[in-house]
Amino acid sequence: MFHPAKYRGLPVLVLGLAKSGQAVARLFHELGAIVTVNDKKDRSLCPEADELEASGIRVVCGSHPEELIHPGVALVVKNPGIPYHVPPVQAALSMGIEVVSEVEVAWHLCRAPIVGVTGSNGKTTTTTWIGRMFERAGKRPVVAGNIGQPLSEVCASVSEDQWLVAELSSFQLKGTRDFRPRVACLLNIYETHLDYHGGMEDYVESKMRLFANQTGDDFAVLNWDDPLCRRAAERTKAKVIPFSAREELPFGVCLEGGPFADELQRRIIWRDESGRLTPIVRAGEVGIPGRHNLENAMAAACAALAAGVPVEAIRAELAGFKGVEHRTEYVRTIRGVAFYNDSKATNPTSTVRALEGIPGNIVLIAGGLDRGSSFQDLRPWFGSKVKALVALGETRFKLEQEAKAGGDLPVKLIETGREAPEEAMRQAVAAAFAFAGEGDAVLLSPACASWDMFTSYEERGRMFKEAVHNL
Ligand code: ADP
Repeated sequence: MFHPAKYRGLPVLVLGLAKSGQAVARLFHELGAIVTVNDKKDRSLCPEADELEASGIRVVCGSHPEELIHPGVALVVKNPGIPYHVPPVQAALSMGIEVVSEVEVAWHLCRAPIVGVTGSNGKTTTTTWIGRMFERAGKRPVVAGNIGQPLSEVCASVSEDQWLVAELSSFQLKGTRDFRPRVACLLNIYETHLDYHGGMEDYVESKMRLFANQTGDDFAVLNWDDPLCRRAAERTKAKVIPFSAREELPFGVCLEGGPFADELQRRIIWRDESGRLTPIVRAGEVGIPGRHNLENAMAAACAALAAGVPVEAIRAELAGFKGVEHRTEYVRTIRGVAFYNDSKATNPTSTVRALEGIPGNIVLIAGGLDRGSSFQDLRPWFGSKVKALVALGETRFKLEQEAKAGGDLPVKLIETGREAPEEAMRQAVAAAFAFAGEGDAVLLSPACASWDMFTSYEERGRMFKEAVHNL
């Protein structure tokens, strides 16, 4: 673990001026480092720059000047969104300068034990859920990472008797070296973000960083139904707590087998090392719908059990949880048509989960940034549960093709784009409403990231909800 004083008086370069870049810059500035923040964006797009400069931090916007990387630089902290192939990162690596993400920084400066949650899908839901369970058990957790506050903003102020519950992306994990969570939680691994990682292997390896430094004192919560997640069991020294929605496990959290054909009647149970069984709740009592949320529920329960949260607290939170905004969020019903905002579904797998979880026929609004992924997984849904498609964004033609290959259903393409995102969403919602009949659902579940038209998935979701309310 490095000493906070290690960087006093030394140059530290922060690449990327997003929320987390700002927090990292301030943190190192307070530690006495000579901080420079560099962002390729034009200065006019960096409103935070003035304030940082006023506090004595150097800010360079508009390009990545070569002179910023020199052998005297003690550390580069890279925004997780910046790929490794960009020149300043390459230059730093070739000079042997350490390049890390803020997760590594947080690990070194945080006195509290850490719960780290990663996976292709379900991170925010599960992290939030774990936070609620810890809260109920009086563990005073601080929930951070991809949700809410950046890790580097909170890491130094969380005390030993609290917990830091962190949502972690593969991008962030790739930039770690010593990071060691007390409880590591891997939800699932699907084909996603391959443009950044350049392939599945790098993506899986990044997720595996979560376990790299764990010891026998730590816990690894693993989805036993996912063969890639199971692999982590071979890689970690931590005590493995598996969860499964498919098989009854001799140890861990799972759905009890038994006489019920209906999955919702089955109980989620915890079986400890001695084989003792403790029922938690019935699947049908879990606060948010869908099989994927059963998995998230079980993962959260495992993490909470690992940290000593009593079963009563877990039970209460599993039943009482109402979900997180933009994740299969029910908006309202108009003339018998229910509207759901699942703007956070930024890959096809998430969209499939939403389609599974919502009852009845669905008019789907989808499309967004083209990351090269295939939409084949959606094909079986077109013409069956999905009765009409409204496609927008860069991937609209690909989705249209997939819909045509899947079945005979009406497709509406929205041609308004980046220049008027609000209007595009208004058109999409109006078109979807026109396709829908009483008892149907209109679902915004784009299967793509938002940045081709919107500034974030949150903005996309909010514009959707606004358009629905204005119908
Ligand atoms: P993340 O933070 O990993 O993006 P979220 O909890 O924000 O995940 O959920 C995003 C979307 O992913 C949800 O709207 C849902 O459609 C889908 N999803 C959530 N949990 C799972 C899961 N365990 N497996 C597959 N898909 C999921």
